[in-house]
Amino acid sequence: MVQPFLKTILRGISFLRENPQVAYTAFLLVAIPAAFIASGQKFLEVSSLNQERMEKERIGILNDALVILAREKLAEPMSLQPLVEEFREAGNGLVAIRIFLYENGIPVIAASLDRDEIGTYGSRDDDLDFAALRVEDTKIIPTMEQGGERRWKTVRGITTENGTIAGVVVTEVSMAHIDRFVAQNIRGAYLFLSLIIAALVFLLLRQARFIEYGVLYRRLKEIDRMKDDFISMAAHELRTPLSVIRGYLGMISPDRLNAEDREGLTRVNASVENLGSLVNDILDVVRIEEGRITFDKKTADHTPLIGETVSSLEYLAREKKLSLSFAPGPSAPFSADPARLRQVLTNLIGNAIKYTFSGGVTVTTETDGHTMSIRIRDTGIGISAEDQKRLFEKFFRVRSKETEDVRGTGLGLWIAGNIVTKMNGSISVESIRGKGSDFIISFPVISRETS
Ligand code: ADP
Repeated sequence: MVQPFLKTILRGISFLRENPQVAYTAFLLVAIPAAFIASGQKFLEVSSLNQERMEKERIGILNDALVILAREKLAEPMSLQPLVEEFREAGNGLVAIRIFLYENGIPVIAASLDRDEIGTYGSRDDDLDFAALRVEDTKIIPTMEQGGERRWKTVRGITTENGTIAGVVVTEVSMAHIDRFVAQNIRGAYLFLSLIIAALVFLLLRQARFIEYGVLYRRLKEIDRMKDDFISMAAHELRTPLSVIRGYLGMISPDRLNAEDREGLTRVNASVENLGSLVNDILDVVRIEEGRITFDKKTADHTPLIGETVSSLEYLAREKKLSLSFAPGPSAPFSADPARLRQVLTNLIGNAIKYTFSGGVTVTTETDGHTMSIRIRDTGIGISAEDQKRLFEKFFRVRSKETEDVRGTGLGLWIAGNIVTKMNGSISVESIRGKGSDFIISFPVISRETS
């Protein structure tokens, strides 16, 4: 019996540890209403204290006025009754006014809101007690009626000019209107609180869904990281067998092979090179994403390097019966890692050849003194404006009839874009679908004085 209970608790604890947001949500669910209740309570307390203070002041003023006026009328006690009646309207909750005068030291009611009491000693014992209190200042005594109604009795002596207390004014004020007001406020506050709690529960329930999303997001990130680790590991592992294959292929002398085998060897070599560049691409992606890519930059006029890269790709153009030319224009020195620049150019010229089926590719350079640009122009299939927007995204490939037989990963431009921008340059494309494309990479010119 105890074991399953313990297990549930332990499972709950480990769930909370993995999902601290749940504990946070539960805390909010309790803390926010508690804070509202506490501050509401404080507010009600202060406001009812305030009400009572104002009420006390009002009663004090009423008594002051009554006592002053009663003192003036002590000579003719008959005129006390009209005075009391004038005060009838004096305020909320005024239940009784009695003026006691001492006859042979005994307090007798000389005027009262209840006319029947006149000439008596008062209908209640405590009246007498009050009347016996010969107080000079207003004294307030809280009492409780049978129905639970709070009342304040006040008593104050009527002091004559020679300092003796000739009588006592006793008033009785009901606190029912204040209590009603407070109760009404409490009801309002609780209604408001219920609305807040309902809104809070609604929001937190919605948040529960976000918590779920949060958990999913974390899992996805974890899986994504595992995938990256796996790809990186696989690419690394592929490098060794690839160099072994390359080594053995290098030992085969084509001269000793017949034409058919030579053709086979060429194909195997090409496939190994493809595989090698794929592995390198993957490793570059991982390096860029992890911020581990490094550059060995050199400030130079890189025109010769551009020419060499173009020459090294001539065989590809020849295979497709395309023209490939390098027409260097004005050039200027800029800072770049030669190996990385060669990699980017190889990719862009390679793409230009890959996606061109007639005509050719021209590589030119231009500079305005501030920027040095290399333009790779082809007369290929071109890229629509819509596709151009996503061209430099990872894995993006244009899906069309013309490209369905062209192999690729969609990584080349993403890598090229990253390398160029990390070397302080920029890459852009100008293209018309069906007419051809221009890929332009630009670098800030570094003048020889500043370099
Ligand atoms: P891929 O390995 O598919 O060639 P890239 O990242 O190098 O990957 O290029 C992304 C996509 O951009 C290509 O799949 C192709 O659709 C389009 N593309 C790139 N270069 C050209 C070009 N010169 N002409 C037309 N389309 C191109």
